[in-house]
Amino acid sequence: MKKLVYMDHAATTPVKSEVLDAMLPYFSEQFGNPSSLYALARVSKEAVENARAQVASAIGASPDEIFFTAGGSESDNWAIKGTAFANRKKGDHIITSAIEHHAVLHTCAYLETQGFSVTYLPVDRYGLVSPKDVEEAITDRTILVTVMAANNEIGTVQPIREIGRITRERGVPFHTDAVQAIGAVQIDVTEDAIDMLSLSGHKFYGPKGIGALYVRKGIRLGNLVHGGGQERRRRAGTENIPGIVGLGKAIEMATADIPGHTAKIAAMRDRLCAGILDAVPDTLLNGHPTLRLPNNINVSFRYIEGESILLMLDAHGICASTGSACSSASLEPSHVLLAVGLPHETAHGSLRLTLGDLNADGDVDYVLDVLPKVVERLRSMSPLYAARKGGV
Ligand SMILES: *Cc1c(COP(=O)(O)O)cnc(C)c1O
Repeated sequence: MKKLVYMDHAATTPVKSEVLDAMLPYFSEQFGNPSSLYALARVSKEAVENARAQVASAIGASPDEIFFTAGGSESDNWAIKGTAFANRKKGDHIITSAIEHHAVLHTCAYLETQGFSVTYLPVDRYGLVSPKDVEEAITDRTILVTVMAANNEIGTVQPIREIGRITRERGVPFHTDAVQAIGAVQIDVTEDAIDMLSLSGHKFYGPKGIGALYVRKGIRLGNLVHGGGQERRRRAGTENIPGIVGLGKAIEMATADIPGHTAKIAAMRDRLCAGILDAVPDTLLNGHPTLRLPNNINVSFRYIEGESILLMLDAHGICASTGSACSSASLEPSHVLLAVGLPHETAHGSLRLTLGDLNADGDVDYVLDVLPKVVERLRSMSPLYAARKGGV
């Protein structure tokens, strides 16, 4: 049997069996619409409220501050558009960073077409946003600061607590896309002074197409999805009960023992990362050396193309990513790698490996066996490499 090594946990994760078991009854026997008025419906309603409490407890919020959505992208859209349109009289300025997920960046770009102005803060070579830059960018017209908790491509973990304290002091709402951070970084919305937070089930062993937005009490936020009165009249649409139940169970499991769980994955990641840098010359690690997600490796192999690496790894049963899955269909290198200052050619030769529950030590050995040979073979065919070596 061909070996399959999945090292793309930042793209998505499989649903844990405990999560699936919790969800299953809500597809069939317990199918009631929570808005209906009979006992069957009350079972669904209770399941939703139980999941709401699980999500709230995982991030230090209260249940009435949690709203279910169709995933991370919707949560980001809601937080940003909902804040922008609700505060139009107050101001028209939004602050974000250059390395946000496209769910944030493209939403901000859309708002620019609607008369809002957006500051895209630069990052340093490790991908860090400077809290001082945030502070200096705030004006009387600023209605929102949105900075992600951890980056999906290079894994850099942002100083969100410092940013939160600054924005709280200045009275500007602070949203964070915590889709990659949940289960990897301890987050407490009170301690971290976060006003809105996006999360998504499928990034922490829950189902796809379900997420949540935390909205601190008192924050002004317009609706994004209009219709029925679900989610306390804030987000219309019959609830995705199995998804919501799965999200609750998954976040409870993902945040039960973050230090214990991440230590195991970080140990594998560290061995793999050191092994790659050791075995392959002309390779550099992208992102911060220590302030990074415990499962993330992002490296650039000079003189070759990330896409070719992926194809050859796939032929060996290894699932990985270059930059981010969303941009892999375009020829432009990742906006994140360009923002940390990589030249185009180097950015093109980058590979992201994200470890997780599907991995064991044997996978690290396997990738360490296959990857250096793949890079060597591609380089042997690369005119850039030949030129660098002074010709064939
Ligand atoms: C995956 C991801 C999203 C989008 O979440 P979906 O649930 O897939 O819509 C948003 N932000 C970040 C940082 C992500 O990694």
